Amino acid sequence: MLELKNVTLFYGAVRALDSVSMEVGTGEVVVLVGANGAGKSSLLRAISGLNPISAGTILWKGNSIVGSAPHLLVRQGIIHVPEGRRIFPDLSVKENLVIGAYCQGKPKEADFEKAFNYFPELADKLDRPGGLLSGGEQQMLAIARGLMAHPEILMMDEPFMGLAPIIRERLIEIFGVLKRDGQAMLISEQNVEMALEIADRGYVLETGKVALSGPAEELLKDERVVQAYFGLE
Ligand code: ATP
Repeated sequence: MLELKNVTLFYGAVRALDSVSMEVGTGEVVVLVGANGAGKSSLLRAISGLNPISAGTILWKGNSIVGSAPHLLVRQGIIHVPEGRRIFPDLSVKENLVIGAYCQGKPKEADFEKAFNYFPELADKLDRPGGLLSGGEQQMLAIARGLMAHPEILMMDEPFMGLAPIIRERLIEIFGVLKRDGQAMLISEQNVEMALEIADRGYVLETGKVALSGPAEELLKDERVVQAYFGLE
């Protein structure tokens, strides 16, 4: 469904992505794992048209989307939930969700029902300003806003960042339900163990390059992953 071939991205003289090739199939959950600055955000931003790539190709359902405007990619079902839960703090929960549905025109009742089905935590806070929600609820709102756009692929940039363990567990549970419902997801995460717990497959990024990739259960057992990320001999 989504395929990147030899994607390279520069910020001025800084090479943030170096010939990255990867793919996400229909209904698949894929994680991008890597330390700070490995290039995870740059990769997601390149896919959603926010950062121009310098070389390579990005294919969506077999067609190149290189150079497409972000709002057109949203219409094609490529939805990006950015790092740092950028909800609109002064708008209510409902208004934030309505904005998520903008590419669909007026949101349907079924869209709200779907969002609350995954995130019942938000259902009784419809009129509350987004900025008054807890950190975990804000992240849920950011993801629910993404769902309102009918994603074919839901890309989430470090969705667990800064959240308490109990909220992380809750998000993992919700991602499991989304996966069972066939939602394709591409999730970036620094914590290898947590990332691979939810994924079918993973790509380990190191200074802009794919260092390792494979099925999640194989990566979790891979000597190189164990040594580099779990600090074990
Ligand atoms: P983080 O977890 O910190 O978000 P990341 O894996 O998402 O890390 P990126 O944010 O994609 O990594 O950064 C990849 C590289 O590109 C880093 O060296 C970073 O300093 C650099 N970089 C990112 N954004 C810019 C920018 N706007 N201008 C210049 N360099 C940038």
